[in-house]
Amino acid sequence: MPGSDARPRNTGQSPLHAMSIDVEDYFHVAALSNVIRPHQWDSLPSRVEQNTERLLMLFDKHQVKATFFVLGWVAERFPALVRKLSDHGHEIASHGYSHQLIYNQPPEEFRQETLRSKALLEDITGTAVEGYRAASYSITRRSLWALDILSEAGFTWDSSIFPIRHDRYGIPDSPSAPYSIETASGAVIREFPLTTAHIMGLSIPAAGGGYFRQFPYPLFRYLFYNASGSGARPQMFYLHPWEIDPGQPRYTNASWFSRFRHYTNLDRCYGRLERLLGDFRFGTVSDSYNTYDPDKTLLRSDQMVRLA
Ligand SMILES: [Zn+2]
Repeated sequence: MPGSDARPRNTGQSPLHAMSIDVEDYFHVAALSNVIRPHQWDSLPSRVEQNTERLLMLFDKHQVKATFFVLGWVAERFPALVRKLSDHGHEIASHGYSHQLIYNQPPEEFRQETLRSKALLEDITGTAVEGYRAASYSITRRSLWALDILSEAGFTWDSSIFPIRHDRYGIPDSPSAPYSIETASGAVIREFPLTTAHIMGLSIPAAGGGYFRQFPYPLFRYLFYNASGSGARPQMFYLHPWEIDPGQPRYTNASWFSRFRHYTNLDRCYGRLERLLGDFRFGTVSDSYNTYDPDKTLLRSDQMVRLA
């Protein structure tokens, strides 16, 4: 359990962890996809711009650079927001265009939307976009083909693979530290997996999002620190702009479980994030990855299929 020794402060020795934000609106999330359909998105009151601005101010206050995985749908409607994030020195990466789960998409459809969303961000920022995160971490053993398409499209790194067992995502027993994957076509793509703590034989997600809101903060901090090998290697943290927004519309017709996942502790999340920024050192995904010792595992995608 958490103790005072599990509270690393910002010291020269602590690793530079990756701070990432998946820039999407409250109505894009998979947990609510049964009650909100994509054709309704344009008619719903958007809150992504104001929520992302709050995160931007918080990161500026703490002098933290983050990686923003921007959904193409959002970039198309709020190009000034994307430009502002980039102008403030943050890294812009892609969260795809439509927020559909990759393993449910035909490869050709995935290819088209991947190219579209990458070009959109590059036109806005004037900078090459090299990083990708799949909607709901939907690169699994069933959709490793997506890595080939990402590589062909010019992406050099990915952060979509959760080394856990979950109803919607995960490749259990895949590495929990940054590694590289050789795809079926022979391309190499760097992978920064989502933080997972290993305690008493259990794999516990500790990357952010719902877990960050649901666990008591000291427990989350302990799990994040544990996952880092007590500060030996960088970890990946993620959050969504809607997770700091208790004022968002509530969908009471969603299932109890979906409502639990989506609405728990929205009012506490901003304060917790500020505590986290004081407890660990954070930077962009690329900066974090580059500070990690380059002695990284190289796995072939066919080896990953056989995992677990
Ligand atoms: Zn998302």
